Amino acid sequence: MARAYNFSAGPSMLPESVLAKAASEMLDYQGTGESVMEMSHRSKEYQAIIDGCEALLREVMGIPDNYKVLFLQGGASSQFAMVPMNLMTGSGKADFVITGQWATKAYKEASRYGDCKAVASSKDKTFSYIPKLDPAEFRTDADYFHICLNNTIYGTVWHELPDTGSVPLVADVSSCILSEPIDVSRFGLLYAGAQKNMGPAGLTVVIVREDLVGKAMESTPTMFNYQTHVDNGSMFNTPPTYAIYICKLVLEWLKNEVGGLAGMKKINEKKAGLLYDFLDRSKLFKGTVAKEDRSLMNIPFVTGSDELDAKFVSEAKAAGFLNLKGHRSVGGMRASIYNAMPVEGVEKLVALMAKFEEANG
Ligand SMILES: *Cc1c(COP(=O)(O)O)cnc(C)c1O
Repeated sequence: MARAYNFSAGPSMLPESVLAKAASEMLDYQGTGESVMEMSHRSKEYQAIIDGCEALLREVMGIPDNYKVLFLQGGASSQFAMVPMNLMTGSGKADFVITGQWATKAYKEASRYGDCKAVASSKDKTFSYIPKLDPAEFRTDADYFHICLNNTIYGTVWHELPDTGSVPLVADVSSCILSEPIDVSRFGLLYAGAQKNMGPAGLTVVIVREDLVGKAMESTPTMFNYQTHVDNGSMFNTPPTYAIYICKLVLEWLKNEVGGLAGMKKINEKKAGLLYDFLDRSKLFKGTVAKEDRSLMNIPFVTGSDELDAKFVSEAKAAGFLNLKGHRSVGGMRASIYNAMPVEGVEKLVALMAKFEEANG
């Protein structure tokens, strides 16, 4: 059986050992005679899975005790509404930095619920950099300050967090969670769709500081109120049971096989370094992002010719390198090299690019 190298921006690759373990437990989970997919979420076996997943996430990320971990559905996109409904209830103000399409969507959705201000933007250059911030623009009475930590479509990342003082920093970490160590205590709230680095689509993880829960707008639907899920251990209704189980296996892989987030960071730096070094040397392929803001996870690049871009994407696909076509707003190519992409996959991609350059440069 040949497994392709999948460079998709999401859903993306899962570690092979995780898929193999899930396959081995598919018909009979640990002697229960049933698949995790078929199991009651109220069973003691399932309770052990969700508790284990939370404990591992807390351990691997070093989440402080005064933070709640919630396993929800609805994707990161639902958080664009859920965050303001729960947090924008003091002054009714929130500040945003516009670093791409997802940051823009978060800003637009929150604007339906309160007074949102874009304090900086990098739209002028197709979001190819992280804008410099002027703290004088920050509103000290804002209920929160929102950033998108890693910009999946454009390939930029915040290397330094903005200093927002006592205003809680909220970050969309969908495409960088678990890719390197993160100081959770710098944030009021973190949220991520699972389908990039955590597991299958359908699970959304929220990590929220305790004191920010319990202040939702009166009109907030029960299912959109963080308090509901805190009070019920993410089991107010049926959680995405199988996705949580796979997430637990991914966390076990991170802890036992990768060496935690410090080990993961080293591997991710190695992979991204291979590709960036090649792009910096290449006379055909060029990275599209300001060097100081380059992401470890998503790497867009172009040849400068739409025709050659298309030729490369199709030759790569035929050779087993999938989903390298760039987002339509950037064009060219994008290699998403999340945690589960093996080093070998990037080495082989670079070799393929070098060969293509020789033939077409
Ligand atoms: C993928 C992605 C989203 C959208 O996530 P859904 O779970 O599909 O709603 C939002 N933000 C970022 C940064 C992403 O990478």
